[in-house]
Amino acid sequence: MEDRAETACRICGLDDGEVLFNEYGVPQYVICECCYNESGIGDDTLTQVRELRGYWVGHGAQWHDPKRKPADWDLLKQIANIPAEWR
Ligand SMILES: [Zn+2]
Repeated sequence: MEDRAETACRICGLDDGEVLFNEYGVPQYVICECCYNESGIGDDTLTQVRELRGYWVGHGAQWHDPKRKPADWDLLKQIANIPAEWR
């Protein structure tokens, strides 16, 4: 069976390998250290996801924890990780 677990943030695309939604689509309530969204909170419909992403980008796509931001961080590269159904 294909592993459908999601490790990329639906809002910002950060993927550090941690499972945010398991293979059954059940949220694991993990807080993203980039956009600070918690998986399962406000990211279960495309409309909500787009609204949160728009808000995050509109505020300069800030890292919640700037210390965790890689020196060569590339917003567009990270956004490309967002699962197709959440774009
Ligand atoms: Zn995120």
